[in-house]
Amino acid sequence: MDLPTVKEKRDSLIENEELCDHCLGRQFAKLGHGLENYERGLVAREIDDLTEDSFVESNVPEEASEKHRCGCEFCGIVFDELDHWTQLVIDSFDRYELETFLVGIRPPEEVVASEEELWSEYGTEWTEPIKTELSRLIGKRIEDRMDIVVDFERADIMAVVDMRDGKDRVELQVNSVLIYGQYNKYSREIPQTEWHCRKCRGSGCDECDWTGKQYPTSVQEEIQEPFIRESKAIEAKFHGGGREDVDAKCFGKREFVLELIEPLNRDLDLEALKKEVNEGTDKVEIFNVEFTHKDKAADIKQKHADKEYRAQVETEDEVSEEALENISEVVGVIEQDTPERVEHRRADKTRKREVYEVSWEVTGPKSFELTVKAEAGTYIKELIHGDEGRTQPNISDLIGTQAECTQLDVTWVEK
Ligand SMILES: [Zn+2]
Ligand SMILES: [Zn+2]
Repeated sequence: MDLPTVKEKRDSLIENEELCDHCLGRQFAKLGHGLENYERGLVAREIDDLTEDSFVESNVPEEASEKHRCGCEFCGIVFDELDHWTQLVIDSFDRYELETFLVGIRPPEEVVASEEELWSEYGTEWTEPIKTELSRLIGKRIEDRMDIVVDFERADIMAVVDMRDGKDRVELQVNSVLIYGQYNKYSREIPQTEWHCRKCRGSGCDECDWTGKQYPTSVQEEIQEPFIRESKAIEAKFHGGGREDVDAKCFGKREFVLELIEPLNRDLDLEALKKEVNEGTDKVEIFNVEFTHKDKAADIKQKHADKEYRAQVETEDEVSEEALENISEVVGVIEQDTPERVEHRRADKTRKREVYEVSWEVTGPKSFELTVKAEAGTYIKELIHGDEGRTQPNISDLIGTQAECTQLDVTWVEK
């Protein structure tokens, strides 16, 4: 069977149903530009020889207004209540500083049911769901009354208007503010993020002085405090582009994204906050702070940035300059079993990693400083001490005596 024409669909709708202008027009929502559905409805009633091209501004009767026709058996009273819903949403936005928003709709159950009946009877050609129309109309009203705009991609806040029986309320989903930056870490005593006390797992005990924490502070805590205070966020999440060991410094400007959860205020002076962080601590320094979006956090987390390290190495026996030359044989692909020290956290497996460059400088009869540039995920301490043969090749084997890394710093991070 052929699909009905626009005229045929209109004719049978008018003959068999009691639709208001909104509901009639909505059956032709995809035809014509710049019209609202109630105007399409008026055109559909006005133009006898209705076609796909009829839905234009010039065909809308001049005295057209958005007056809802009472007695529509499909939408009930929802279009009479637009100002009420609009006010509810505006009230719910009261505590928040916003630039963009989005409105979602949970229509009354009976409206959804009758919409589905209408679609099965007359087809879904040219129509849009009633919740799309309601969300657009309420969104426009809010734009008219507040200095904020609808954003379908990255709204600051999403208001879901619940029109279902007995609900009459707005639920808010406040999107996080995301801040990109880079950090250096100048302490060998703090982890990147907060660690729970190993003994009490966060509940507080003698061991941790009832703080619940293994370390008094962390890179995250050193950075986040002024951001949380100014944004009035309930908390923050820290997404690092990899992490260094607790006892390693980082001079490589490691990337991070600070996620401020449910902030009231989004209009932050990032330069001032950066300054406050940097003046308030000597453990951490942050750089290049800017607003970013959700994809960026995922991005830097799975980027696998190559790195350069500087390691202080001590050896069991004295090493000749000649023996040290063998270190360069480590350049190329190495194989590392998961180190003993992280085995409980990661699945045991053998990984191939590439060492790009290596150089060294003798600092004493049994010590030298090693610089290594290597692929993301290379375990440098294990590369040096060999992890009882679990890293191959390794520097201890190559120089013929057991070597230990006593200090490790990150000096460069790929961006
Ligand atoms: Zn209606
Ligand atoms: Zn504890």
